[in-house]
Amino acid sequence: MKVQLQLETIPVWDGLKEGSECFLCSLMKGAEADAVRYYLSSAVMTPEIRVETNTYGFCSHHMHLLAEGGKPQPLALVMDTYYDENKRLMASALDKAIGERRNARKAEKAASAFFDIIHEREKGCLICSRMEERLIRYCYTVASLWRDDSDFRTALEASKGFCVHHTEALLRIAKEALSGEDLASFYSSMLALLKKNLDRIQHDDWWMTQKYKSENKDKPWNGCEDAQKRAVYKLIGEARVIDPVKKR
Ligand SMILES: [Zn+2]
Ligand SMILES: [Zn+2]
Repeated sequence: MKVQLQLETIPVWDGLKEGSECFLCSLMKGAEADAVRYYLSSAVMTPEIRVETNTYGFCSHHMHLLAEGGKPQPLALVMDTYYDENKRLMASALDKAIGERRNARKAEKAASAFFDIIHEREKGCLICSRMEERLIRYCYTVASLWRDDSDFRTALEASKGFCVHHTEALLRIAKEALSGEDLASFYSSMLALLKKNLDRIQHDDWWMTQKYKSENKDKPWNGCEDAQKRAVYKLIGEARVIDPVKKR
């Protein structure tokens, strides 16, 4: 018996119709923006949310987006008590490291014990967690619609597909919606879609290299003006979930 997850039929259909290189990238950019906005809102005034931000915090990429989010007051509150929690966890290791003034080996060991706590502290990200919940629902919806809606299947299989990063996520999460022959057929279909579209992008990228030759100066771009960027993002994706608090 499969778990029933909430379907996101409307955003997924809208995403497919937008005709981008990976509509999961577009949907996840929205999910990321929403999650950043949430942690820069009045939500962080509530004690339960602050216990979460103090305990888990954010990955370095999402710390960066918070810092650049243009909301000083909520971020200052989050950081103030996050620093308190840091002190609680690190003070004794830091003081011990400061106290090692004579023996290089002991000093190095004590410093590295302090940085081990820092590295542990950097693990887990609440924004990544919120993004992952959405990613799971979007991928579940794609797999479910592919099985149940022949118009969707036809449109998806004729589309530009997904980036490599989100193709992997889609196949991993498809197991929640599909099994047996359906699942195998979905894997095969999505990987064939990926192969076809990687070739298309490489061809676009190649045409850009040709356009820089003087003999092709006056030939049309054929929509390849941004092929080098599409070549990059088709591989790595955009708005990646980096380190959610709860791993699935
Ligand atoms: Zn993507
Ligand atoms: Zn993150």
